Amino acid sequence: MQQSVERKQQLAQRLQAVRQRIDRAVQHAGRSDRPELIVVTKFHPAADVLLLAELGVEQVGENRDQEAAAKQAELAAQGVHLRWHFIGQLQSNKAKSVAHYAEAVHSVDRQSLVDALGRAVASLERPALKCFVQIDLAAESTGQRGGASPSQMLGLADQIASTAGLELAGLMAVAPLGEQGSSADPDAAFRRLAELSQELREIYPQAQAISAGMSSDLEVAVAHGATHLRIGSDVLGARPAVR
Ligand SMILES: *Cc1c(COP(=O)(O)O)cnc(C)c1O
Repeated sequence: MQQSVERKQQLAQRLQAVRQRIDRAVQHAGRSDRPELIVVTKFHPAADVLLLAELGVEQVGENRDQEAAAKQAELAAQGVHLRWHFIGQLQSNKAKSVAHYAEAVHSVDRQSLVDALGRAVASLERPALKCFVQIDLAAESTGQRGGASPSQMLGLADQIASTAGLELAGLMAVAPLGEQGSSADPDAAFRRLAELSQELREIYPQAQAISAGMSSDLEVAVAHGATHLRIGSDVLGARPAVR
């Protein structure tokens, strides 16, 4: 128990620091709106998610279906209901599972996945599943971080918008990796994403969302109009090594 008290204090401090960074970035950008904070809890235990909920976090992000489904079930069993965002590469055969607990999928990057998500929601009583088209902003696509090419954006948007039970929310992107493993040039990447968002909104004015910005580049994302920030390590600490 003592351990959990300490962990909660630590999470509270880190959360507050991130919220202050967001406040400053919003102010600096002269924005009157405030982006939504999605705390990315992947690799961290359900106990941490519970502490975050107690600290007022309402939206969490996960990138593996099995892990997300288990955590969501564990929290629901304790009467805790959060808004779950699926942010990782998604195999079509997992669409059905994800549709059971996710409010939104940020990683929609191909037609076959839209089909699978459409079929998944058709059999469920649930509000529309929000879909973000994930754009691959790498100049030379490695396919490493997922995402559709900018030229595929409108086709996917059309398909989502015309599928019952799916709602076109907007766009998502991860800044391309540089050689050191950190973001190469998030400024150029998120500027490009903002341009694409404008292009999308000319046809779908309701598709306002821009999901961009992680721990290392949230300020840049806020400056370029991000509406949803996906912050993991700066709230929860380093993740255990990737399995
Ligand atoms: C892990 C992850 C994040 C959070 O990254 P941090 O650097 O830990 O803040 C955001 N978006 C996606 C798609 C992720 O996989």
